[in-house]
Amino acid sequence: MRWTQTLVPTLKESPAEAEILSHKLLLRAGLIRRLAGGVYTFLPLGLRALRKVEQIVREEMDRAGAIEVLMPALQPVEIWQQSGRYRTAAEVLYKLRDRAHKDWVLGPTHEEVITLLVAAEVNSYRQLPKNFYQIQVKFRDEIRPRFGLMRAREFIMKDAYSFDVSDAAAQISYQKMYDAYARIFARCGLKTFAVEADTGVIGGSFSHEFMVPAETGENEVVYCDGCGYAANIERAESAVGRSPAGAAVNPSAETPQPEKFPTPGVVTIEALAAPPYSVAAARQIKTLVYLVESKPVIVLLRGDDQLNEAKFASRLGTGTFRPATAEEIFEWMGAHPGSLGAVTTTRRRADIPVWADTRLRGERDMTTGANEDGFHLRHVDVARDIRVDQWADLRTVQTGEPCARCSQPLKTRRAIEVGHVFKLGTKYSEALGAEFLDESGARHPCVMGCYGIGVTRTLQAVIEQSNDKDGIIWPMSVAPYQVCLTPLNVAPQSAAMQLAERLYAELTAAGVEVILDDRDERPGVKFKDADLVGFPLRVNLGEKSLARGEVEIKPRTGAAMSVKQDEALARVVALVRDGLAALGNAPRG
Ligand code: ATP
Ligand code: MG
Repeated sequence: MRWTQTLVPTLKESPAEAEILSHKLLLRAGLIRRLAGGVYTFLPLGLRALRKVEQIVREEMDRAGAIEVLMPALQPVEIWQQSGRYRTAAEVLYKLRDRAHKDWVLGPTHEEVITLLVAAEVNSYRQLPKNFYQIQVKFRDEIRPRFGLMRAREFIMKDAYSFDVSDAAAQISYQKMYDAYARIFARCGLKTFAVEADTGVIGGSFSHEFMVPAETGENEVVYCDGCGYAANIERAESAVGRSPAGAAVNPSAETPQPEKFPTPGVVTIEALAAPPYSVAAARQIKTLVYLVESKPVIVLLRGDDQLNEAKFASRLGTGTFRPATAEEIFEWMGAHPGSLGAVTTTRRRADIPVWADTRLRGERDMTTGANEDGFHLRHVDVARDIRVDQWADLRTVQTGEPCARCSQPLKTRRAIEVGHVFKLGTKYSEALGAEFLDESGARHPCVMGCYGIGVTRTLQAVIEQSNDKDGIIWPMSVAPYQVCLTPLNVAPQSAAMQLAERLYAELTAAGVEVILDDRDERPGVKFKDADLVGFPLRVNLGEKSLARGEVEIKPRTGAAMSVKQDEALARVVALVRDGLAALGNAPRG
């Protein structure tokens, strides 16, 4: 491709819309343009890089035995009602109505479509296992689209769905996808690590997310250098949450009866921890009130702990909950937030269920709100004074807590989720009738798994991970072009241009992807642009070195090498092959 014939609208400044580096670089390198928030056009070079990621995904999915299909983005609303997700996923669904007043949905994911297909087309254990995948556009009405392709309203996902006869067989399908994902990201030049992930309200048995470490990532990951444990903070546990019952402070002392004391104006943990009260946060009970599917629920944590809403959701089995408002709370509890407590004798309504974090189990001599504005209670013995309906691990793990497996201090870091593998079980196959007949003719629901890769997010994650002050540093495998030929004189009869044309033809014939910068621009402009776009290799053809019979090969990161003109072809081909092979990609052609 010739630079002047394609469209590479590079920018000196990054547009104000871009907040993170990879987003800025996508725009500055002329790879994408914004149409609306979270909605982008891929320009020619961006599209080439995207196609390469897709191709790597496709090859590895095929290699793992998955079968490619293409499902519609436009889906009848009825199938979403049938699975129950018209309600539970309502927030992200784009809905539309046609001329006949029929309702449709733009697919945010495709469990419904594929499960119905399997229900109709697969009947026998002989046809299983099956794993269907597609690389297709998804639509999600995200609360906060941002960071370019990272959190978009319209994006490309590879989604795969496996169907098996048993749990054990599903486990094998799961492992195949897990392994394929590791290969896919490695071939894209991405450093990723897998973490245990929240299975959420779907209630699947387990799942892993593939994470790219990045400060700008929207996920927080807890990990242990000692034993390799790693989990999304939404799921992570530590030894702290698991302390045995009764191991609390002060185990021998008899706690006196709860005693009310005045705390005018004190409505935070911090205020009660400060003088004159000086009750350490760890000796306080935090009382929260939530509205869960329109019913109140009290949640108790130690004063220095935070409620992990993802854990709460998965224990509840629903994502439909919110903190109660101050008015609702006053009506149910008789006091305002800051003075609440769950001590049985002080509660206005005894019927509100109490959930408590396991860390509170056995704690004595605690301080909590008295359910009366301006008062707290001390000497609270959790076992004696509070009726807990549900004990659960509800707290968010903190950096430095001992690992539950090996006691080493846990660390945390931010990361970008690029892929997700999920053991689904039979939720969808039961709801949508994907059943098979076993050898004896008995009917069973298929055991499913689902597996997603954000293809467009992966592309941007590569840039987020691989760049420098001059621009993008593409791994050889996903670069829009592997080589940028840069003649410094572009007059058609000039020696530089003639050699550039010859190398262009020869490299192309050798299967190398080349862009020829035929712009009549100053060398500085061309070099800057090539570095900004980030081609792995630049070949400079300048009059001076040509006079010596040489050309200059400049890797994007690394020193320039002068090579003889007649060796240039072989050297470039070898560098491209080595670059591909280093990432586990076989050379093409
Ligand atoms: P997130 O927690 O980031 O919203 P998710 O759990 O909703 O992700 P999945 O439903 O598992 O994501 O989708 C599979 C993959 O699709 C994710 O791992 C991610 O790479 C990608 N993805 C999800 N939402 C978006 C989005 N709004 N824009 C771009 N990619 C996305
Ligand atoms: Mg999401």
